[in-house]
Amino acid sequence: MNITIENRKWLDDFKLSHPLVIAGPCSAETEDQVLKIAHELKNSDVSIFRAGIWKPRTRPGGFEGVGEIGLKWLQKAKAETGLLMATEVATAAHVKLALEHDIDVLWIGARTTVNPFAVQEIADALQNTDKIVLVKNPVNPDLALWIGGVERLYKANIKKLGVIHRGFSTYEKTKYRNNPEWQIAIDFQNRFPDIPLIIDPSHITGNRDMIFQVTQEALDLNYDGMIIETHIDPDNAWSDAAQQITPDRLKQIFFDLTIRKETD
Ligand code: PEP
Ligand code: MN
Repeated sequence: MNITIENRKWLDDFKLSHPLVIAGPCSAETEDQVLKIAHELKNSDVSIFRAGIWKPRTRPGGFEGVGEIGLKWLQKAKAETGLLMATEVATAAHVKLALEHDIDVLWIGARTTVNPFAVQEIADALQNTDKIVLVKNPVNPDLALWIGGVERLYKANIKKLGVIHRGFSTYEKTKYRNNPEWQIAIDFQNRFPDIPLIIDPSHITGNRDMIFQVTQEALDLNYDGMIIETHIDPDNAWSDAAQQITPDRLKQIFFDLTIRKETD
């Protein structure tokens, strides 16, 4: 399928920064935590605030997210800071609630992109939406599955599409939590140059000390943006503690990055 949308335009329409910066905690934990982080991120290069409220945990027993109440916190954060709000959806019920609460950006997680039935259900629930929808790569290194997910959304007449490269599972021991397998993302970019490509260094590295380096590598490959897990108290985060950074550290990273001008 040829996806030749004026897709990149949604970045301009929203007057979002270049590169696009999405930041916020892995999980919304409390109203206070959400609001504090959002306030620290306003008036910076961040244009979209992320927080998961339904958390897809690999095994049961971990924190599975605060659920629907978190949508109210995001609404409040938006009203107070003006940041656009993003959260993960994995079922049609999630989509319905997120739309009812006017969440601006919905992303499909790596454990959902692997399942065509789930992606189709989400695409049907989102039919004709003008919300921004971002598709993470599937957990396994399968380019076709990633493309298939995007095509299902495109066929449901969703035009503000983007993709997030969050790395791939491997049973081998590597320095990464999820192996970047850069070539897969580059192949995606070559095939669909109109679809914004966003790096997720947090889930690729699993380690806050490697966030800068992986983000720089992506920008050098002409990625359009980044999504970086950011928390006021990273060590005590309820999920993904080792990879989260403080808002101050995020600002420093953004300052240190070498960003190519679009005309370069
Ligand atoms: C997340 O963004 O917190 C998340 C669960 O990511 P992924 O789907 O990439 O594992
Ligand atoms: Mn996370």
